[in-house]
Amino acid sequence: MMNALASTSRNFRNAARLLGLDSNLEKSLLMPYKEIKFECTIRKDDGTLVSYVGYRIQHDNSRGPMKGGIRYHPKAEHDEINALAQLMTWKTAVVNVPYGGAKGGIACSPKDLSISELERLTRVFTLKIHDAIGVNVDVPAPDMGTNAQTMAWISDEYSKFHGYSPEIVTGKPIELGGSLGREAATGRGVVYATEALLAEHDKSIKGSTFVIQGFGNVGSWVARLIHERGGKIIAVSDISGALKNTNGIDIPALLEHKETNGSLISFDGGDMINGDELLTQECDVLVPCALSGVLTRENAGEVKAKFVIEAANNPTDPEADEILSQKGVVILPDIYANAGGVTVSHFELVQNNQNVMWDEDNVNAQLKKYMSGAFNSIKSMCQTHECNLRMGAYTLGVGRVAKCTLLRGWGS
Ligand code: GLU
Repeated sequence: MMNALASTSRNFRNAARLLGLDSNLEKSLLMPYKEIKFECTIRKDDGTLVSYVGYRIQHDNSRGPMKGGIRYHPKAEHDEINALAQLMTWKTAVVNVPYGGAKGGIACSPKDLSISELERLTRVFTLKIHDAIGVNVDVPAPDMGTNAQTMAWISDEYSKFHGYSPEIVTGKPIELGGSLGREAATGRGVVYATEALLAEHDKSIKGSTFVIQGFGNVGSWVARLIHERGGKIIAVSDISGALKNTNGIDIPALLEHKETNGSLISFDGGDMINGDELLTQECDVLVPCALSGVLTRENAGEVKAKFVIEAANNPTDPEADEILSQKGVVILPDIYANAGGVTVSHFELVQNNQNVMWDEDNVNAQLKKYMSGAFNSIKSMCQTHECNLRMGAYTLGVGRVAKCTLLRGWGS
């Protein structure tokens, strides 16, 4: 399996070639702007010391302040964060929000830490990056393993050095200037993107069958919104296992079960199946919502879905991409499909700047507008370059970043 960085860089290079970019410009666009790697040591509740490695990788700022999440996960290591930072650069450009790309994280297992340990860890993390971020420089947000509370701690710690600055992060609690609809935004964006793609193929969510891999923030919102629109979800999974019911899973009941029990296990509305089997179920739409590298040459040949919606970042490695394309599977790429989160982060900053609060219907309506606008722009790139949706999205994103880089020029 190709690692996430190699896979993202390969997609970028293919797009650079389609756009006919100069090779030195190509090299400059690929190289991260700045990488910070640092120690995060905290005292655990039992008094012992524990040390983790933290990162903030700032990939590109030619279109605006860098933007991207903070991930707490055992796999949040250098190459993974680097790949995710690069994806943010193309993602913000695809949906045309005025930011560059960055990503950060700590290689740790947040579920093994208490709430006070998480707070101490987040404050140490912020201490190490506070002078490298800023509202006009780099604005973090939640990602896997972090949430609105994490953002509140970051903003509080940052404010100790720089004065009260809630807009240093997005995805904040509503009480501290967060936006309504931000929590659901990535999942909602995935659903708007899916609607746009299915409509193109004379289909709709209602009447289609879905398999959803991952039931965290993104996966559970995707499931809820698809269910609300009359889509039939026949299988879902989380880290505890996978659940199947060909008659359609009762999603509201499953959400309640997960809320009370913390996992899908022992839900009586379906049968438990093997996690690998989940990806190869008979269905119309497969939505990977978890980690990178889930579709590889080992399983791509067995995928029976007609559409793959990349709610996760980098779920399909290039070999799987080729196998799926040959089989005629239509893939909606990550840098478009999961861009709803950063789009609503942009709305959050707009509201912060103007000191106003939009109602949730307005947030969702604007999100829909951005997602359908981006879909049309991707389609037109597909026509210009005679390419698939992934290359359509990459040429759109990379082209916009290249244009701004050239316009701004290079200092000495
Ligand atoms: N973590 C989200 C992403 O990967 C959101 C980033 C943001 O809002 O800045 O797109």
